[in-house]
Order: sequence, then C-alpha cells, then structure tokens
Amino acid sequence: MQPITSIKPILESPKQIVITTHHKPDGDAMGSSLGLYHYLLLKGHNVHVITPSDYPFFLHWMPGNGEVIVFTDHEDRSKELIDKADLVFCLDFNGLKRINKLGEIVAASNAKKVMIDHHLEPEGFDDYRLWNAEACAASELVYEFIELMGDRSLLNKNIASCLYAGIMTDSGSFRFPSVSARLHRIVADLIEAGADNARIYELVYDTHSETRLRFLGYCLKDKLQVFPEYRTALISLSKKDLIDYNVGSGDSEGIVNYALSINNIKFAVIAIDRTEMIKMSFRSKGEFPANEVAKKYFEGGGHHNAAGGQSSLSLEETVNKFMSILPEYKELLTI
Ligand code: 5GP
Ligand code: MN
Repeated sequence: MQPITSIKPILESPKQIVITTHHKPDGDAMGSSLGLYHYLLLKGHNVHVITPSDYPFFLHWMPGNGEVIVFTDHEDRSKELIDKADLVFCLDFNGLKRINKLGEIVAASNAKKVMIDHHLEPEGFDDYRLWNAEACAASELVYEFIELMGDRSLLNKNIASCLYAGIMTDSGSFRFPSVSARLHRIVADLIEAGADNARIYELVYDTHSETRLRFLGYCLKDKLQVFPEYRTALISLSKKDLIDYNVGSGDSEGIVNYALSINNIKFAVIAIDRTEMIKMSFRSKGEFPANEVAKKYFEGGGHHNAAGGQSSLSLEETVNKFMSILPEYKELLTI
C-alpha cells in the first residue's frame, strides 16, 4: 500500500474512474463521492459514481445526483464500469463487506483501489490510502485530497456544496467532538467557494414529509423505552410500524439521537425490522464505546459514539439479547 500522494502522477493523464461508497449512503457518503466526482471531472477523467444501494431523497439535490448509478438497479452496467476502471475510489468505508455484492466485483477488478475514509480498523484491500480516524467526515478528507493534489484553487460551487453537506451531516451540524478549528477553516473555505450553507441545511433537514414528523412523534410517544438503571434508551420498530407510517429510505435516520438527548442517558439504540434483517444503530455520549457493543454482539462496528450493526434474530429476540448484555456494561454506563 502506498501513501495517497503517490497517486498524483497517475492522475496527470485521463483515467477511467469509479467512485463508490457504503451501503445505504448517508450525507457524508454522497457528499464525499459527488465532491470527488466533480473534482475528477474537472481534471479531465471519465468518472462514474456507483452506490451499492439507494439513498434518501433529502440527498437527491446534490449536483451530479442525476448521474449516480445505483448498483442494485444496474448490476451489469456497474460491473462493466468497474471491470474496465483504472482506479476505484472507495469513500467513507474501509471494508469491502460493507458494500455487499459490489465488494466482490471491486475485489475481483484489476483497478487500483484508493481508500479515503475515517472509520477505525481499515481492512487493507486498498492500494492507496488517505485515512484518518480523527477526521470528522470522509468529505473533510476529500478536501484534504484536493489540497494534497495541489488543486485547492479548483474548488467550485459543485465541489464545495457536496463536501459541505457531507461535513455538516457527519458532524451533527458542527457539534460533535470531532469538529476542530481546522474543520471550521475548511468549512469557511467551502462557503467562500460557493457552498450556500443556509440553503444546504434546509435541503437536508427541513424537507421532511408530514408523515415522517408524525412517525417521529409515534416513535417518541409509543416506542421509546428508557432504562434509567442502565442510563440506556431503546426504540424498536416492527415491520408493521414501518408499513403503517410508510417509512422509506432515510425516514428513520436521526431518530436514535432523540433517545440519546435525554438527560442522564448515555447509550441509545434503535432496532428496526427491515426485510432482510434487524438493523441497529447505536449512539453514546462520552466514554461509552457504542462501537464495542456493535462489534461484539451485533456483527457491526463504527465510531466510538456512533455505530451500527445487525441481527438475524427476530425483533423481540434482538431486543432481549440487547437487554441481556446491559448488565455487563452497567459499571461503564453508570460511572
Ligand atoms: P448508522 O447508525 O448511522 O447507520 O451508522 C453509524 C456509524 O456506524 C456509521 O459510521 C457507519 O459507518 C457505522 N456502521 C453502521 N452499520 C454498520 C455495520 O453494519 N458494520 C460496521 N462495521 N459499521 C457500521
Ligand atoms: Mn462518514
């Protein structure tokens, strides 16, 4: 594996490039991918963004969204592009398992793999790496990548808008501990380059349907369980809940944070009965390692305070399993 700067000479002539990101892309996954897409287009490359799955409507405003190829809708075309690519950029994830079947195609391709990521424990499939677990967002690292390539002057409204959206979403609107003075300087640069900060916030956070708001109300009123003895809060949602409220991709995003916002709650989880499995999101405050619980018990991982995982048990069994592991963490949760 080589440092990211050694890719500079390779990018000096036009290349076939695929950019991909993690399953169920979030704001940072799409922001970093499309930000990099606009930059590489400007440099004269032939570039395609391929996502492993669809993604929420509140990310569809991003410039370049119309060109994104969703793998599950276009498997043959995706495979063809990856097979003939010189370079595959992998953004906002660091293990090929995270992108399902697309991961097998990427692994089999002769293309050089470039990883730009901020999650812990990279798997090691990459040939070039820009990785920093202290970075707030992959979009922050894409900014750094453009800077390292000596192209800061190329930042334009398209690049800046995408990267701004990625940083805004992964930093919880600039409130997480990962937000540094340097990040604010980067953000200032993005605004100067044309990112319309107020408009981007509105497009991402203030465009929900009435149903989504009522669904949030339902989750908080009827589905939230609080366990003060473990300083833990839990929301579990059945298939019926999802059907009753017509919950689509992205509609459940962020709900777990409301559970965590309760005073004295240190650990929050949402468990959702998706068709294929129970999908879980974990959030924690301070020292409590949400990713450890995700990794040890729920086939997942992530960051210290924000992690995800899954379970192939039923929803009820998953909740029981979760409750049964809390005593193990009681001390950590209540210090
Ligand atoms: P979310 O709860 O928003 O889906 O994910 C929170 C964080 O955990 C993200 O940084 C995401 O990359 C990570 N994450 C979510 N699901 C999984 C998973 O199944 N495996 C791993 N390793 N990380 C996950
Ligand atoms: Mn990210």
